[in-house]
Amino acid sequence: MTVLQSYHELERVQLPQGAIYIKPGMRGYPDPPAAERVFRRALASGGESLVDATGTAGAVALVALAAGSVTAESQGGREGGAAMVLEASMAALRCARQTMVGGAEVRPGLPWDLPAAGAQRVALAPAGDRGNQRIMAELSASRRALDPGGSLYVALHKEQGAKRFEKILTELFESTEVIERDRGWRLSLARGPLAGEDRVPWIGFEAAGFHLEVLPGVHAAGRLDPGSALLIEKVPWAQLAGERVLDLGCGFGILALLAARAGARVTAVDDDLAAVESSRRNASTSDLELDVRHSDVDSALAEERFDFILCNPPFHVGRGVRLDVPRAFIWAARRLLNPGGELWLVANRDLPYERELEGWSESETVTAERGFKVLRARR
Ligand code: SAH
Repeated sequence: MTVLQSYHELERVQLPQGAIYIKPGMRGYPDPPAAERVFRRALASGGESLVDATGTAGAVALVALAAGSVTAESQGGREGGAAMVLEASMAALRCARQTMVGGAEVRPGLPWDLPAAGAQRVALAPAGDRGNQRIMAELSASRRALDPGGSLYVALHKEQGAKRFEKILTELFESTEVIERDRGWRLSLARGPLAGEDRVPWIGFEAAGFHLEVLPGVHAAGRLDPGSALLIEKVPWAQLAGERVLDLGCGFGILALLAARAGARVTAVDDDLAAVESSRRNASTSDLELDVRHSDVDSALAEERFDFILCNPPFHVGRGVRLDVPRAFIWAARRLLNPGGELWLVANRDLPYERELEGWSESETVTAERGFKVLRARR
C-alpha cells in the first residue's frame, strides 16, 4: 500500500457510546479525540436538539444518540430533538460521516454558519492551538446560534486558559457553571444567551501586494508565514502564466493568488473550511479567479492534472510534529502532476522531506536560509 493509500484509510475506535472513526490529518491523531470524555455524562440525558461542533468526528453527538436523548436524522418522526455534527476539517468530516451512518446529520460548517436562534443545545471544544481569537469567535457565534432557552456546553483544557474563557462566558450568557472536571478538562454549561455582536470575525491585513481577509484560527492569520515568504521569493512566477497550478494546503490563499495574478489557471485546496472560505473571499475581493475546494489532501481532486504544485505543508495538526500529512502531500503531488510538472515546496530546514522525493526524475534544494529550505522536484 502506498503512503497516500494508507493516509486515506479510516480506523475504527471503540468508545463506550459506540464506535467512531479516525484518520491521519485529524487533530490529535493517532489518539482518539481528547475532549470527548468530559461530555459523556452531561449529554446522556436531556431531549433537546444538539449541534455537535466539537471537532471530535461525531464522538460527542454519539453520546446523546446512544443514550436515546436525541434522535437520528433517519428517525425524524420520533420524540426528541435531532443531533447534527458540524465539522470544519475535511479529514474529520470523512470520519464523522462514517461514524454517523444511519445516525446524525453531518454537515461541513463553522459555528458562525449556523442560523441565528435555531439550536437548543450546542457543544464546543475549541482547539487551543488555533488561538484565543478563534475561541472567542466560536463562543460568540454559538451564543448567536442558540434559541433564547438554549444551552452551550464548552469543553476547555486548563492548559488552554479554561478559566479565562469561563469568565468570558459569563459576559455572553445569563448563567454559567462548570459541571464536569476530568484530567485537566473542564466542561462549562452556559444558559440563556444574551444579545450581542453578530458579525463574522474576519481579520484584515496586507501581504505580498494584496489586501487579505482571513477567519481566525486559519494558519498564519494576519501575517505572511515566513516559510511562505521565502517560497514566494524563489518561485519563477512568470513561468506560471497559462499553466495549470495547484496550491496544496492553501490557507488564506496567498500562493494561489500570486499564481493567478501571474496568469495561471489555479486550483487551491485546504482541509480547513475556514481556510477555504478565506481563500474564496480573497479571490473575490482581488478580482482573481480561483477554484477553491474543501479537500483532505487530494480527496477533492480526481482526474485533473497540474503543471506546477506549490505548497508549504503542515507538519503538525494540533500539537507535536507529525509527518503523515506532509508525506501524503508529496505523494499526492506526484500523483497530480503532469509528466515534467514541478513541485515547489518550503519546509523547516530540519524536516526530512528529501527522502520522499527520491523516486522523482529530478530534485534539488533551491535554497536553505532563515531556518527554511525550498525544494523543487520534477515528476
Ligand atoms: N499555503 C498557506 C498555508 C500553509 S500552512 C500559506 O502559505 O500561508 C498549511 C495548510 O495546510 C493549512 O492551511 C492547513 O489547514 C492545511 N492542511 C492541513 N492538513 C491538511 C490536509 N489534510 N489536507 C489539505 N490541507 C491541509
